Amino acid sequence: MSRKNNPYEMALKQFDAAVSHMDLDEGTVKYIRSIRRELTVTFPVEMDDGGIEMFTGYRVQHNNVLGPTKGGIRFHPNVTLDETRALAMWMTWKSALLRLPFGGAKGGVAVDPRKLSINELRRLSRRYASEITIIMNPESDIPAPDVGTNPQVMAWIMDTYSWLRGGTAPAVVTGKPVPLGGSQGRLEATGMGVMFSAREAMKYNGIDPKEATVAVQGFGNVGSMSARFMHELGSRVVAVSDVYGGIYNSNGIDIPGLIEHARRTGSVTDFPGSEPITNEDLLAMKCDVLIPAALEGQITEENAPKIQAKIIAEGANGPTTPGADKILHSRGVFVVPDILCNAGGVTVSYFEWVQGWQHFFWRRDEVARKLEETMVESFNAVLDQHEKTGLDMRTAAYTLAIGRVAEAFEMRGIFP
Ligand code: GLU
Repeated sequence: MSRKNNPYEMALKQFDAAVSHMDLDEGTVKYIRSIRRELTVTFPVEMDDGGIEMFTGYRVQHNNVLGPTKGGIRFHPNVTLDETRALAMWMTWKSALLRLPFGGAKGGVAVDPRKLSINELRRLSRRYASEITIIMNPESDIPAPDVGTNPQVMAWIMDTYSWLRGGTAPAVVTGKPVPLGGSQGRLEATGMGVMFSAREAMKYNGIDPKEATVAVQGFGNVGSMSARFMHELGSRVVAVSDVYGGIYNSNGIDIPGLIEHARRTGSVTDFPGSEPITNEDLLAMKCDVLIPAALEGQITEENAPKIQAKIIAEGANGPTTPGADKILHSRGVFVVPDILCNAGGVTVSYFEWVQGWQHFFWRRDEVARKLEETMVESFNAVLDQHEKTGLDMRTAAYTLAIGRVAEAFEMRGIFP
């Protein structure tokens, strides 16, 4: 990864930029800028051919002053300690911004899960879960899905933890399958939250969602669900891409059909009635809303000057570099930052965790209603801060989140 786009350096820059607009105690800043705990594990997995492969994984807990640390687990070949640190830090701000009683953490394994058989994936997930069980706990650190993991992986993690500790511990992980204590609506929560954020941003910018065009980069859980909810909102999703390529249709892509096509073929490419398009063209496309929903570092100083979207709704974590942010801000592009825009996932994770402790489960419409309330409230809080201070939306969101963590730290004090 080039040094310029190192996600951890990005996260620190965003933090420092926000802090420079705040009046915080120097010691408090030093404390909340630091990462509390980092675990690196290297472990063996028996492959189907009988051979042994070694894998490296991480679990990083950035800060826990507001509550147990919370954050997903990523299975992707490019996972590094620095990426995991950045993602953990972003989780701290995201939870604080949404007023969830959580700190921030993240985990990951450097592996391409698409190259594993289902049995290899199961053995890898279980062994990784057992390796991080020394710091994972329903009261102190609660994983969830992220890029490359899904409800099945969460089921294995919950089962592994439960066998090692005795009993069954549904609250140790969120994003589980519904029959195992997963929440209704968790699978689609991030995409639904992206849609609420984009809808509110359009309202603020005087754009009618029914007239709006949308481009989505990435078609994993977040990208596909965001596309689906934007489509259901009545907007025209004109371009979509995944790791294999992109597609375009100026009349709007049939998203339910595309989801079915991607499920069947493994990619969005070659969807009937669409033209191929490159990732670069998709990012630079003239549209109302651009939803980057893939990996970090996609919108950079190089391509930011070419972006024609009026609104960027960040489904991914860290898709925009600090250099790109400056360019977008000066060009008047309205950015709904990741820690707000994609927070629907961890919000419903919180609902799932609460349900797990209570062994009492909510209906899908209750989950969706509470998610909408939480997202709209947080969007308005960031918007207020943006208008009051003149800061861009990301920095405004950071100042709110960091202020809450700082306040809690000062109340708790230092042990001993
Ligand atoms: N991985 C998701 C995120 O980046 C969800 C985390 C969670 O639900 O704990 O927000």
